[in-house]
Amino acid sequence: MTIDYQSLAVRGVQALSPYQPGKPIDELARELGLDPADIVKLASNENPLGPSEKALSAARDSLSELCLYPDGNGFDLKQALSTRLGVDASQITLGNGSNDVLEVITRCFADADAEVIFSQYAFAVYPLVTQAIGARGVSVPAVNWGHDLTAMADAITDRTRLIFVANPNNPTGTVHHAEAIETFLDRVPANVIVVLDEAYCEYLEGAAYPDGIELLKRYPNLIVCRTFSKAWGLAALRVGYSVSSPEIADVLNRVRQPFNVDTVALSAATAVLADEVYLQRSREVNEAGLRQLERAFDRLGLDYIPSVANFIAVDVGGNSEDVFQSLLAQGVIVRPVAGYGMPRHLRVSVGLPEQNERFVAALEQALSQVGYGG
Ligand SMILES: *Cc1c(COP(=O)(O)O)cnc(C)c1O
Repeated sequence: MTIDYQSLAVRGVQALSPYQPGKPIDELARELGLDPADIVKLASNENPLGPSEKALSAARDSLSELCLYPDGNGFDLKQALSTRLGVDASQITLGNGSNDVLEVITRCFADADAEVIFSQYAFAVYPLVTQAIGARGVSVPAVNWGHDLTAMADAITDRTRLIFVANPNNPTGTVHHAEAIETFLDRVPANVIVVLDEAYCEYLEGAAYPDGIELLKRYPNLIVCRTFSKAWGLAALRVGYSVSSPEIADVLNRVRQPFNVDTVALSAATAVLADEVYLQRSREVNEAGLRQLERAFDRLGLDYIPSVANFIAVDVGGNSEDVFQSLLAQGVIVRPVAGYGMPRHLRVSVGLPEQNERFVAALEQALSQVGYGG
């Protein structure tokens, strides 16, 4: 008897498509027979500065402990975060990247009868984890590429258990100011959990933007998620965290894998929190890079979605797939976002000035080859 083993997977999983990551540099180098050093990857919102020296040195020092299980409670990292954020260590849940935390939250608070609300064009992981557990994802149409918080609040029903808000959002780079987020939170019933995903918050400066940690004091149904993958430059190590009430953290702690963050990651993340110079440079390089890309897009007559994060989505016209392929052939990797329902855009991460320049030159060349296509 032949069994279709795929049909044995639970229903939500059967209908799932895997997360599409940015193309790795080595893969493109193999395909094109290029030297990896000649390839520019601006596809995964990684920090172009390379890792912090403080993080590198801590990571190296931790290698002698590879034979031991990590500290399952992440004591040192939680202490460092607790000091930095002004919260109690009992409010912090560490994850294997914040993706891990997002998944654990979903498994803890939603089941097959639940509805989970997120925005159109929001981070792909929200629908993915929702569908994996068989819950119903409710995608609320965006306004100007950003979350329509009013419509998201209107979409709440008796079955709503969880709402994901990415602020800033990936892949659009849109952001809501503090007032809009607070007005939204005021409308959410206290028994509905709101996840405020602040993966890019370190790039935001100014009082106009909400500080999720501050909001926790007023909204006990809030969970704030952050990551070491972007501004802190540790994407390979997979470290993220949430901050919530201790009660919610206790629930998450029951479901997370006992050793979900490894020793090298814990050491590097703890060390990088002391590298204020690195963070400041990350911000400066990003700010300058955003302006550089905007100027180039203006010069080329291309529309883009104004972004406050470390990437920007640019409308390259009707032939975006061909533009993407032409960029690849020139050794420049960016991210197609057709899977997000944005078939005209490419998302480009902010690189170092010379990387941005390489991308812009390649884009100009691509557009002259394949045309804008209306
Ligand atoms: C990059 C990103 C994350 C974090 O991913 P990690 O798993 O921490 O690497 C979370 N949310 C959004 C919106 C992101 O863009």
